[in-house]
Formats: sequence, structure tokens, C-alpha cells
Amino acid sequence: MTPLNYVNYSSTSVDSSRSLYKPIGFILCLLMSPVFSAENYDLAIVGGRVMDPASDFDEIANVGITGDRIAVITKEPITGDKTIDASGHVIAPGFIDTHFHGTQPLHYRLALRMGVTTAMDLEFGALGTRIDDWYSDRDGTSLINYGTSVSHELARASVLDGVDAIDTSEASLTRVHPNWAGLVPTADESEEIFAIIDEGLRSGAIGVGSTLGYMPGASANELFDVQALSASYGRQIGVHLRHTPGTETDEINGAQEVLANAAALNAPAIINHFNNPGWQRVYELITRMQTQGHNVWGEIYPYAAGATTINAVFFDPSNWRDRLGRR
Ligand SMILES: [Zn+2]
Repeated sequence: MTPLNYVNYSSTSVDSSRSLYKPIGFILCLLMSPVFSAENYDLAIVGGRVMDPASDFDEIANVGITGDRIAVITKEPITGDKTIDASGHVIAPGFIDTHFHGTQPLHYRLALRMGVTTAMDLEFGALGTRIDDWYSDRDGTSLINYGTSVSHELARASVLDGVDAIDTSEASLTRVHPNWAGLVPTADESEEIFAIIDEGLRSGAIGVGSTLGYMPGASANELFDVQALSASYGRQIGVHLRHTPGTETDEINGAQEVLANAAALNAPAIINHFNNPGWQRVYELITRMQTQGHNVWGEIYPYAAGATTINAVFFDPSNWRDRLGRR
């Protein structure tokens, strides 16, 4: 499929907001724009294919912007102090990517190149004791909207391995250590892990991110308690499921664990990248729960590949060689 090229209205502005709602604001602006093209605009984006998924608008049109507002979308010619010829490009509201591990300025710049104006890591997250640092590092300098969950994995790494990595950019520092993945914490250690996650939530993390599938030492009880903690703040958990990658039965069971907890807690949850064996049933579970009013979601990435750290538990010979690979 030929990739689309995107022109983003907001790609040149610096935005330090933690808000998730800016792209939604764009959509509303788009819907409410009057058709009036006589005036001159600050910026005229002309000749592009204007697409708005919320209203199904999909036509070649001209977009006039005044200040930071979309003032007009019209097929009539318009003029602007500055004009961008968007012929051959798509003009769309900024995309929101809730599974974005690249948290450095270069990654954000690359996100803009593919139309993403809000990038959040809601799977891995950042260390609870450093959430304030994480946000202040980006305040006033980030090209795009950003956000992070608080990391279940990094809380375990901090307590069980004594490593204080801030987010995925430093995950290579933690994953060489022996305990974060497999160790079952003592009661005291568990209390420390939960205190770190709680600090992150109090500091403004957007829910909890759990790489549960990497951490066989995190019990079903531990996951339930983490989901309950996030729910106590009214926030979601995003989970890389247990048993992923696995068999069709394993994969469905991994989703069922998170969804059952979410239902019991009446808590929001995101099933991360469930495009694995059994995904059709997981999709059905999620949509059936949604129709019953549960705030549960899933995501699927649109490519048939993946990447992770070489020492991940999936590459244990009993998993990789016997179940996933070839001898
Ligand atoms: Zn994952």
C-alpha cells in the first residue's frame, strides 16, 4: 500500500501541554468551521486532501487558519499571509499514538513526520519517583503533546535490582539485571514497589503501564493489586499480556486476566497489541464488555513484526525453541 504523506497544522508550534484533548479540539474546530472564504488568513493550506475521521469529511479542499484556529475549510480559492501547497498530501487532525516508546526529542520529531501530534507511552511508562522530572524535561521544549504512564516494570527494577532508570530510553540499564522479571517480591519489597507506582500516579502519570508478559515474577495477585491502585485514581492500566507471545489459548487467557480484573474493579484497561493468535476472541471480549459499559480498549499494530530486548523471557529455550521457533 502506498504510504500517505501528511501535513500537520500543529507541527511547527511548541506545545508543553500535558493535555490529551488538543487533537480532539481540532476535530471540533473542523466540524464547526463556517464556510466563508473572502478574508485573508494567517495560513492557507491549499490543494490537499482534507480528511476528518470524526465527520467522514474526505475531499480536496483548502484550509484557512487564523491564529491557532481552523477558520475555514472550503473548495473556493483562499489566500493567506503564508501559503502551503499541500497537493498530493493528506491534511488531517493530528494522530494520537498511545503506544509510543520513543520519548526523546528525535523520536517526537519522527512522530510528526507520520502525522502523530500526541505520543504517549501507556505500556512501559516511566519510573514513579521520576515522573515530575520526566514531565519537566519536556515542558516548553517538546514539539508534540506527550504523556507517560507510571511503569510497573521500572518500579520492580528499582526495588528488586536497585536501578533507577527513567523510562525506555534507559531500559537497557535495567534489563541486564536479574531480578525485575522473575523475582517474587517479599511483602516489604511489594510495599515499596506499590509506593513507587503510587508516587507516580500522584505526580500525574496517565495510569499504569505494565509489561506483565516480561515478568513471570509478577503474580496474578500483584497484577490485580496494580490494577486496583490505578483504578483508585480513576486511571487505566495498559498491559503487555502474560503469555505473549504464546498459543491461541495462552493469548486469550492473558487478556482474560486483565479484563476480568477490570470488570471486577470497574476500572479502565487497555489490552496492548493483541494482534496475536486468538486475537479475534480478544476483540470479541473487548467489544462485548464495551457494549456493557466497561471502559476497556485494545490496540493492534499494523505490521507483522516486532522487536524487544534479547534477554526477554520469551527467548527462554522452552518458549522460543519449542513453541515459537524451529530446532
Ligand atoms: Zn509490548
